[in-house]
Amino acid sequence: MPIHHQVLIIGTGPAGFTAALYASRANLDVAIFEGQQPGGQLTITTEVENYPGFEHGIQGPEMMEVFRKQAQRFGAKSIYETITKVDFSERPFKLWSDNNEYTADSVIIATGATAKLLDVPSMKTYWGSGISACATCDGFFFRGEKIFVIGGGDTAMEEANYLTHFGESVTLVHRRDEFRASRIMVERTKKNPKVKIITNAVVDEFIGEEKMGIKKMTHIKLKDTVTGETTIHEAGGCFIAIGHTPSSKLFEGMLDMDENGYLITKGKSTYTNIPGVFACGDVQDHVYRQAVTAAGSGCAAAIDAERWLAEQE
Ligand code: NDP
Repeated sequence: MPIHHQVLIIGTGPAGFTAALYASRANLDVAIFEGQQPGGQLTITTEVENYPGFEHGIQGPEMMEVFRKQAQRFGAKSIYETITKVDFSERPFKLWSDNNEYTADSVIIATGATAKLLDVPSMKTYWGSGISACATCDGFFFRGEKIFVIGGGDTAMEEANYLTHFGESVTLVHRRDEFRASRIMVERTKKNPKVKIITNAVVDEFIGEEKMGIKKMTHIKLKDTVTGETTIHEAGGCFIAIGHTPSSKLFEGMLDMDENGYLITKGKSTYTNIPGVFACGDVQDHVYRQAVTAAGSGCAAAIDAERWLAEQE
């Protein structure tokens, strides 16, 4: 027998938890699928300084724990499973995890986005043996090393600064000579004496060695995008910070999405093309992508779902 809930929320981050908080506080029966990364992207970030209400900042994982507890206080139930298949063709909507089948009157999608990786063959060889996409998770392992960060956005800036707590040096490599990051972050990075910046360069190859069956990256080969010249640099660690891909594959062919896979919502609402299915957070927002905007859209999704459910009665 499938397990039924009035509202099922897929994905936990600021969007999913806020939707869960609002929907459960509106007296709806709500369950939230925590998925493969409970708490979402903020669980792999450092200090969040720009979430209103936390005057002195808060660590990302701690913030998500507060969000979870606040939603649970009003009855939202966390399910530690990943949804692998959905069928929105008829109501109640059907959702499957590896273990169970669920049905719901309404579904809120808050699956977020995941980090993009470089298309360099040797990246796979040294993934986890020098290369990472999460400074907060792995920075500690690179104490005293020469660390590289790839990317020119806010994430790259943030990670480069953070990694100076661990590395002997940090070099930020960006493929253009203009940065996508906000001015304040670029200035902070430029002012940091432990960060060196190389522009107009891309990774050509990760180079390493294998000792007694253990692989380790030791060098990184960069290619100048203007001259084509390559240079080899000693590198103990490399963090890839080149943006994200929306987690929307599950909904291909069912929900409208743009050419990059971001779910399309109608106007200012969180309505998708299927009535009763709503989307919020980074999976439908490639512009703002902030915890606070994700939380705001999670709130909107819960209100949209609540009103839509009331109309169906
Ligand atoms: P962005 O998409 O903003 O930046 C990605 C960067 O990676 C760009 O500089 C891009 O270069 C570069 N890049 C992309 N693909 C490649 C590739 N294949 N090879 C080399 N370089 C590549 O992603 P972020 O993760 O930095 O930021 C996402 C959002 O989150 C932004 O809105 C940002 O403002 C926000 N954010 C805010 C923070 C804060 O306020 N504290 C902290 C972190 C993120 P190019 O510019 O040439 O396209």
